[in-house]
Amino acid sequence: MTHRPRIVVVGSLVMDFVAQGPRLPQAGETILGERFGMFPGGKGANQAVAAARLGAEVYLVGCIGSDVFGESLVASLKESGVDTQFVRVDETAKTAACCIHVDAQGNNSIIIVPEANSKCSPADVERALEVIEACDVLVCQLEIPIATVERAVGLATTTHVATILNPAPARELPRSLISCVRILTPNESEAATLVGSATTHGKMDERSLARALLATGVKSVVVTLAERGAFVATSDIDRLVPAFAVQSTDTTAAGDAFNGALAVALAEEREFEDAVRFANAAGALATTRAGAQPSLPWRSEVEALLGANR
Ligand code: ADP
Repeated sequence: MTHRPRIVVVGSLVMDFVAQGPRLPQAGETILGERFGMFPGGKGANQAVAAARLGAEVYLVGCIGSDVFGESLVASLKESGVDTQFVRVDETAKTAACCIHVDAQGNNSIIIVPEANSKCSPADVERALEVIEACDVLVCQLEIPIATVERAVGLATTTHVATILNPAPARELPRSLISCVRILTPNESEAATLVGSATTHGKMDERSLARALLATGVKSVVVTLAERGAFVATSDIDRLVPAFAVQSTDTTAAGDAFNGALAVALAEEREFEDAVRFANAAGALATTRAGAQPSLPWRSEVEALLGANR
């Protein structure tokens, strides 16, 4: 490759509001909390930041509202080097918000309000056609309208750009979309949801889940398995790529680190299993630090973990 890996992420931006208290409030109850934090998040933004920190030239296509939270999300993307020219300000919506209550044991209850993410449209994707055509890998998740994801995957496919679809949060998907995607990256429960929509099987192991997904027309499947690593399956291979042993403290955004890193590794033309190993390293490192975007690792950290485990 003669240029820096070039990646387009089409997805969500969300401001997370986290209030920690001694316990979760009951309906109608007000309790005194102990800590509050505001954190930039959204799977699209997180995966874009993950890829940028690993050295890629990254463009995010998404929507925010005309408010201070949107401005703050864009500022944090820029800090990590993400190009935000295709993040549109929608005057009719607010920036997406995620209100999280956490108790002393770490249990949480969450309300996520999509707001501007639901305004991210196929036209927003079309506006980014020039960078999509010129990129190595396009990455999508499911926190924006499905029609937008379909347009992004469709445009990338017709211009021969590799696509990664991280089918999170879990939902059923049209077969026409799944069959266009180059790599599908569900975690175990997302894989079960997708397979459940296509078959009548009960609880299945990762190999059976991956095979069932291949049977729906995807070219490659990577089922992420948290501390066990990731199971890769194509028509030729079918095996576990083990995780890295680390001191995990907070698994938030492990999947986002994994997907951003997988995109970078594929853009760098690594072999598939080697790319998954690189992504496992990024996912593992993200679990060693608190929060979403603050936990996403930089290139030197991933290289160091890979180097220490040759
Ligand atoms: P998600 O966050 O989307 O639910 P996973 O929990 O499967 O996805 O995590 C994604 C990836 O992050 C895993 O495939 C693995 O590489 C890495 N990972 C997650 N948890 C751990 C852990 N406890 N130890 C090492 N690696 C982990």
